[in-house]
Order: sequence, then structure tokens, then C-alpha cells
Amino acid sequence: MKTYRIAAIPGDGIGSEVVAAGIEVLNALALRDGNFGFKFDHFDWGGAYYKTHGRMMPENGRDQIRDHDAILFGSAGHPDIPDHITLWGLRLAICQPFDQYANVRPTRVLPGITSPLRHVESKELDWVIVRENSEGEYAGVGGRAHQGSPLEVATDVAMFTRAGVERIMRFAFKLARSRPRKLLTVVTKSNAQRHAMVMWDEIAREIAKEFPDVTWDKMLVDAMTMRMVIKPETIDTIVATNLHADILSDLAAALAGSLGIAPTGNINPERTFPSMFEPIHGSAFDIMGKGIANPIGTFWSAVMMLEHLGEQAGADRLMTAIERVTADKRFHTPDLGGSARTTDVTKAVVDAIQGRND
Ligand code: NAD
Ligand code: MN
Repeated sequence: MKTYRIAAIPGDGIGSEVVAAGIEVLNALALRDGNFGFKFDHFDWGGAYYKTHGRMMPENGRDQIRDHDAILFGSAGHPDIPDHITLWGLRLAICQPFDQYANVRPTRVLPGITSPLRHVESKELDWVIVRENSEGEYAGVGGRAHQGSPLEVATDVAMFTRAGVERIMRFAFKLARSRPRKLLTVVTKSNAQRHAMVMWDEIAREIAKEFPDVTWDKMLVDAMTMRMVIKPETIDTIVATNLHADILSDLAAALAGSLGIAPTGNINPERTFPSMFEPIHGSAFDIMGKGIANPIGTFWSAVMMLEHLGEQAGADRLMTAIERVTADKRFHTPDLGGSARTTDVTKAVVDAIQGRND
């Protein structure tokens, strides 16, 4: 039997609630399957750790997790700590050095869930957003001078490398090719941003030649928001920069019914370091501690983790269990208009895995 070593980093706010639920579901899945198991190592990094140690994770933190098969992450974000400290101190401190350069975000309207777009069915909204996750607007380059004075100046410099754009483009074309419609939309803003975004367009044209079976088009990011709302059925796979895809994927999550459902994988495709799986949402200060966080985003992220580990049968079983549970409105949490609690949804998914509500 294969035992996967998973580093669990729940982080802050509802992160700890949904990661605990995710572990429960993964353990149930392993028991049901019998061919694989998990050994979870728990890391208490995040806001509380920061308050005692002055940093979000230990200095040798990455060494403690670099040999794990995957990372299951909750959220970085604490009410008492500025967001740029929590984000850069934990999530980006793992994603960037571990070269998880492809952030993959599937979006679908799951059974039983209503999209705010009227009449949209799951067939018409079935997208994967590929977000460049290692450079661009979040390269961390920039600075401030003369702080507080009227002469204060601040810059955030977006940095794009040919190598970085080529590898994310190739990843996106490959992913598009693996999906039935073989359709890719390359999103930029190459009218206003006339250097790096023009390079993106050029590189897209070059890489496209390697994938003659993939149909592709390009779109400016502002126009893309309209297309996502007005013609969702014309979209399949999307590739965009770190910032643009960050924004588009929150829109995508909302169009699919709730941010609480949306999953993501921070993938190191060459597997030189572990990849990291997490719900898209953050710490959700307004509902933390109440036991009503929707755990589906974490469960779906666990599906992505299983696929990455090569456990396709387990991934399919978990996704089927998730869809069976979302189809039943009794198991909808308040973000979906229901009154179920995190534990109710978790138990229902565990039951579905065990085939108890067949
Ligand atoms: P958020 O995702 O935490 O919350 C946005 C809204 O969605 C809130 O009303 C929240 O209650 C709701 N929501 C989110 N997840 C939910 C779930 N699973 N079930 C039910 N409702 C859910 O975004 P925010 O309020 O902008 O950020 C709060 C904190 O989280 C900030 O510190 C931010 O920096 C951090 N954050 C972290 C990550 C991450 O670690 N990946 C992502 C986004 C935000
Ligand atoms: Mn975001």
C-alpha cells in the first residue's frame, strides 16, 4: 500500500476548520479504497505563530515540508496582522521558492448549486483558469521612499521573463489539449501595457505552433470579464498573468455559485518540489469559529491533490461524493442559502464515499 506524506498547513481563520474537514474526508477515502493511505504532518504556521515568533513560519520551514508528497493549505490572513505580511510570509513564501508556477483553478456549476447567471447550466460553465504563479505583478519588485512625506513615491513593478511566460503558456496549451473542447483563451492587456503584455501575445503565437490541435484566441482582460458573464459557453481553458487571473478567478468562483466551493492547485509541473492544494477563499473573518464554513472548496482541492498524486480512481470517487452532496440542498451551508454546518457537509461526503446513501 502506498502511503502519501501530506503536509497540512491550516493557517488562519476558517482555514483550520476546512482543512480539518478535508483530512477527515481524505482518511475516509483511503479507508474505503484500501490501496493508498495518508500520513498527515501538521504545521501550526500562520497568524498565531507570528504573534509568538515574529514570523509566519520558521526559518527552516520549507526544509520541513520539501520532501512531502503534497501540501494541503487552508488560508493565510489574520485580523490583527496586515495582509501583505501574512500573504508574503506564508503562502507566497511557499509557492515561489517551491516554483509552483502554475496555479490551476477549475470552475464548474456543481449539481444542486445555482449560478447567479440565470439559466446557466454546468455544461455551459466549465472552465479551467491557469494563473501564472511565480512572477508578473506579484514578483515583489518595487519600493517606497520618503514615506509619509508629500514627496512619497511607491512602485510595484511587474516582471515577466520569456522563460516564465513560455512555461506557463506551454502548460496551458497542454491542459487545453487534454480537455474535450481543446480551446484556450489567452488573456492580456496588451493595448495599454505595451511591453510585457505584447511579449505575452508574441509568445502565445509561438507556442501555439506546437499545439496545432488546440484552438486559441486572445482577449483583453476587461473584455474577458464581460465574456465570462455574457457568453460563458464560449470559454474553456484560460491563461492569464498572476494579477489578471487572480481577479478573473474570483469572478469565476462567484459565477459558479460561491467562493466557498472553488478549489485550486499550485502546481510544480516538473515535481522538483511538492505542489500545494487549497481552497481559493481566505480566512473569512466574518464567519470564523462559527462552524458554518463551506468545506467543499477544500474537498475539491483534495480531488486535485489526488489527481496530482496519480490516484485517479480516488479522485473520481471523491468528486462523485462531492457532487452527490451538493445536489442535496439539506447539505448547503449559509453561503449557498442553506443552514447546514461544516460538520454536516463533511459527514455527508464521508457517507457518500462509504456508499451509505446509495
Ligand atoms: P475571504 O475569502 O476570506 O472572504 C470573502 C467572503 O466570502 C466572506 O464574506 C466570507 O465569509 C465568504 N467565504 C469565503 N470562504 C467561505 C467558505 N468556505 N464558506 C462560506 N463563506 C465563505 O476573503 P477576504 O475577506 O477578502 O479576506 C480575508 C482574509 O483572508 C484576508 O486576510 C486575506 O488576505 C486572506 N486571504 C487569504 C487567501 C489565501 O490564503 N489563499 C485568499 C484570499 C484571502
Ligand atoms: Mn485571490
